[in-house]
Amino acid sequence: MNLETAQAMERKLLLQTYERNPLLFVSGHDVYLTDENGVDYLDLLSGIGVSALGYGHPAVTAAIETQSRRLLHTSNLFFHEHTAELAMRLTEISGLDRVFFCNSGTEAWEAALKLARAHAELLRTEGKNIGTRFLALEHSFHGRTMGSVATTHKYKYREPFAPVMPGVDFVAFNNVEDLRAKFSDEICAICIEPIQGEGGIHPVSQEFFAAARELCDSTGALLLADEIQCGFGRTGRWFGYQHFNIQPDITTIAKPLAGGIPMGAMLATEEASRAFTPGMHGTTFGGGPLACAVAIAIVDTIQSEGLLTHVTETGNYFQHELRTLASRHDAITEVRGLGLMIGIEIESTGLATRIAAAMLDRHIILNRTSDTVLRFLPPYVLTREHVNIAIRTLDEIFTGMTSLAGTKPAGEHANG
Ligand SMILES: *Cc1c(COP(=O)(O)O)cnc(C)c1O
Repeated sequence: MNLETAQAMERKLLLQTYERNPLLFVSGHDVYLTDENGVDYLDLLSGIGVSALGYGHPAVTAAIETQSRRLLHTSNLFFHEHTAELAMRLTEISGLDRVFFCNSGTEAWEAALKLARAHAELLRTEGKNIGTRFLALEHSFHGRTMGSVATTHKYKYREPFAPVMPGVDFVAFNNVEDLRAKFSDEICAICIEPIQGEGGIHPVSQEFFAAARELCDSTGALLLADEIQCGFGRTGRWFGYQHFNIQPDITTIAKPLAGGIPMGAMLATEEASRAFTPGMHGTTFGGGPLACAVAIAIVDTIQSEGLLTHVTETGNYFQHELRTLASRHDAITEVRGLGLMIGIEIESTGLATRIAAAMLDRHIILNRTSDTVLRFLPPYVLTREHVNIAIRTLDEIFTGMTSLAGTKPAGEHANG
């Protein structure tokens, strides 16, 4: 199947939910994706923050190979060898007590919303006065299912599906006053992405996060940290909230958790966890042997290869180089991020779109989010040499902006 055939057939056969780039990838190695013509693309997006160890990492392929021969699926009616082992690792790195496994980010977030509602109900049976409403943040993104879209701020993701789950109010980003004004004993949980991803790589402020923690503590409401994009090592710590020294009651992870095998998880405190009893929540596929075996391999590789330190160092270098670039090009108005979760603010949407396209023409993958932000979510195994290629190419593109229309692919950049 080549690109032209895929395009023609998908146009007829698929719901038109995506505007794909006209590229068909057939394989990957290290931090490169290879298209049908054998051309390598430097991947600074890792499939939206998923392929944390890049492509073809021996630890991942070995785990898949071994487990695929042994056992793929059991359902949650039975035990298998890997659930407890992975849960042990996840509770250790998060400081939370218990884990619920699922298959994607939005499912993990749904589990978090359901647990928060169930926990508030439990508190009410114990005589506490606590409501059922949620506070979420402006520019938030929590996924595509009905509960997740209800807590997602962007109009286009939520309103076409109205009525979505009722009971959500949005707080102005990092506005402590607004948070305090909207908080009351009606609220069962506050929803926060410690570093907003889809919304444009915006970290919450220390003050805001601390205020949310304090408000929740004052009523028994839960603090929910959505770490699906910023968690699991992306920022150089296991979890984004660890940069703030604030412990949530519930957190959700997914994207890089099993390195490309679909998997999500919700982690919760003992206190929150007691609200779920057998039968209240579940999944057919979630936490299966294959996904768990791969996730264990990924946690262990991040630890054994010292990748958290590597992410911090490479991320700092990348951001430093981007700031230098910004000092040379007025079109870059801000550089933001933590570790290898980085966004650069571009002066206009049109320009950001053109730069992303010009990078792709030069065989480098990144994307535009939140209109004016170019987003980098590269594999954790990215090196300074890869960063240098990206910076050099961006510099050429920004310099040659006026003649972008004539940009031709520059093959020498692909393999660095
Ligand atoms: C991607 C993302 C989700 C949704 O995850 P899916 O696996 O696409 O369902 C939820 N929250 C955040 C912060 C995300 O980045």
